[in-house]
Amino acid sequence: MSLSVAIIGSGPAAFYTAGALLKSDTDCRIDIIERLPCPYGLIRFGVAPDHEKTKNVWRAFAKTAAHEKVNFYGNVEIGKEISLGELRRIYDAVVLAVGAGSDRAVGIPGEDKKGVFGSATFVNWYNGHPDCRDLEPDLDVQAAVVLGNGNVAIDVARVLVKTPGEMAATDLPDYAARPIHASPLTDVYMVGRRGPNEAKYTNVELREMGRLENCVALAEAAQLPDSVAGEMSDRDRRMKEKNLATVREFTTRKGDEKPKRVHFKYYAQPVEILGDARVTGVRFERTQVVDGRAEGVGEYFEIACGLVVAAIGYTSRPVAETPFDARGGIVRNDDGRVEDGLYAVGWIKRGPSGVIGSNKPDGKLAAEQILADHGAGSGEKSGRAAFEALLAERGVRAVSFSEWQTIEAAEIANARHGAPRKKFVSTGEMLALLG
Ligand code: NAP
Repeated sequence: MSLSVAIIGSGPAAFYTAGALLKSDTDCRIDIIERLPCPYGLIRFGVAPDHEKTKNVWRAFAKTAAHEKVNFYGNVEIGKEISLGELRRIYDAVVLAVGAGSDRAVGIPGEDKKGVFGSATFVNWYNGHPDCRDLEPDLDVQAAVVLGNGNVAIDVARVLVKTPGEMAATDLPDYAARPIHASPLTDVYMVGRRGPNEAKYTNVELREMGRLENCVALAEAAQLPDSVAGEMSDRDRRMKEKNLATVREFTTRKGDEKPKRVHFKYYAQPVEILGDARVTGVRFERTQVVDGRAEGVGEYFEIACGLVVAAIGYTSRPVAETPFDARGGIVRNDDGRVEDGLYAVGWIKRGPSGVIGSNKPDGKLAAEQILADHGAGSGEKSGRAAFEALLAERGVRAVSFSEWQTIEAAEIANARHGAPRKKFVSTGEMLALLG
């Protein structure tokens, strides 16, 4: 019998796993099961709307989804309509590729005030995720604080300050474009708890901040180290030196060059979100870096703002019926093996780090493990047939890959101003289109 494999989730880690299984040329059937009607996970909802080129990898994933051995089942939630236990009973192998779609708490007083968002929620909002489209952040503010020094912090800051012209050829949904472009926002403070040499953003993204139409990137010379010191690989050193040179260039810019400013601030950890019901500012403690860690030095300052986005990394929700490491925000696993016949790939396996391509080795390894555990082409369970019977029995309206392509074609047809697509932003809209 063909080996039956179910992959839960349809982001990069899921597609790299399916791709690696196909490459092995094993007799298998691969079913990719996704909670939303649309595939691609982080490519659709994580990558910034103005970074369309980064999303191009979806074209390779679409080829995988269209392969005769692969079926896509959108609009099916494992843990709701069908349990993980049921899936494991009917498939030889089940792969968890559910990502890390939740916000990490900063863990400081006032975090629950209005106007404070985690980056997972905020990014999903401006990317048209059906779960977050009703967020309605109040952007009638002059200043915003973005916590964190990673690429997500840069994405958020950039999307907030780009002009309508700069965002015209993107898939930023209208409901997000309207308040962003009507906002009187003039100043975004991007605050890192360590220094420029410890920042996690990459140089391409950092440099882009120096070339925005209506916004100048600023940094304070006094906060910049003279050089990149310490033990590290040549590659890391080159990257850090490039970043330092870019931030140094920001110190030469003038705040009144353009109507908006992004202030790169370092060595400050947030200690309290200020305000009554709504945020009015953030209180920070200055830090120094000791043995690579930020340590408070007992000096405090405040930045007034009406919006805070905490871009301090994502976490995963516990997956029912699996051992979960709440501290690490991952499913407990031994290099991808969770339990007999259950595997994990991507951010649910190793936490939210790396770029899209970093998920490729995970997919390759999972495919190797599945084949080693089951023997090529020696499936024992009925997989797809039993799964489709369960869907029918429970009245679940699954969306196939060709149906998704119908939705996608409508999104492309509806696009304006050179935009790649106009996203449908609710499950209802997508299903209605299919009739
Ligand atoms: P990240 O790269 O891990 O950055 C998180 C930032 O938050 C770090 O600067 C971290 O500081 C800071 N932080 C963590 N806890 C904090 C706290 N309690 N208070 C203050 N600051 C805190 O995470 P990310 O930006 O969410 O990105 C996730 C992954 O997606 C990364 O691998 C990223 O490269 C990738 N990504 C890539 C792109 C791209 O390639 N264009 C775009 C978006 C995302 P410390 O360093 O001191 O811990």
